[in-house]
Amino acid sequence: MKNNQNFAVRLARTHFNSCLILLFCGLLFNNCKVNSGSAGKAKSIRTLMVGGGASHDFNQWYKQADAATLRRDNFATVRYTDNTDSIAAYLPQTDVLYLANNQPINNPQVRQAIFDFVKSGKGLVLGHAALWYNWKDWPEYNLQLASGGSRGHDRYGNFNVNIINTNHPVTKGVEPAFSLKDELYYFKTDPNGPGVEVLANASVAGSDRIFPSVFVVNNPQARIVGIALGHDAESHNITPYQTLLRNAIKWAAKK
Ligand SMILES: [Zn+2]
Repeated sequence: MKNNQNFAVRLARTHFNSCLILLFCGLLFNNCKVNSGSAGKAKSIRTLMVGGGASHDFNQWYKQADAATLRRDNFATVRYTDNTDSIAAYLPQTDVLYLANNQPINNPQVRQAIFDFVKSGKGLVLGHAALWYNWKDWPEYNLQLASGGSRGHDRYGNFNVNIINTNHPVTKGVEPAFSLKDELYYFKTDPNGPGVEVLANASVAGSDRIFPSVFVVNNPQARIVGIALGHDAESHNITPYQTLLRNAIKWAAKK
């Protein structure tokens, strides 16, 4: 009888211990699931991409192609909009604002929100059409954010891009020289702006006219990158452009 009781007690204890182990494993498993889930999300850079305007297929090359480039491997989450009035509402959940639009940003509150965003130290990437002098009534955009702009470009065609600073995080892993078909923007820095550090130049073979193609803007708070490339498939679909874009978003996000 006593043996039976001992056996029952031992059985109960073993059962209790097994339950504890199962419970512990369950907690551990759940914990791992929660941690890996949140860590994965935390790593992705929240990017707000703005397109829309003239002369470009913003849906195809930005909303689709660039967004796919940035979403690869959960590198970034991308929200695309061509409604410039909506920008201010999205900025609080944004790490990097990627402007590619040449349509006007007319709303004064949105203009202010973009400047506040930059002042708060968040990232800004300006792509192709956004490096044009698009807005006569908003000179602060080119002067302060881009430190210059383009008022002309070569006719669409082949030209060379030469990386002149291969040590910068934005040019990391990019071929030091490549050629592509695009519009060679005549980007000029404004001497009254904060200035830029040129990372890559663009020039047509045999020509001595050289223009900045990839650069960072000297801004005391935010990291700002300008990428003058990006008219159509011939840039958006090539590896050097895609690497530059991902690097630019990452650097601008201070990651
Ligand atoms: Zn273009």
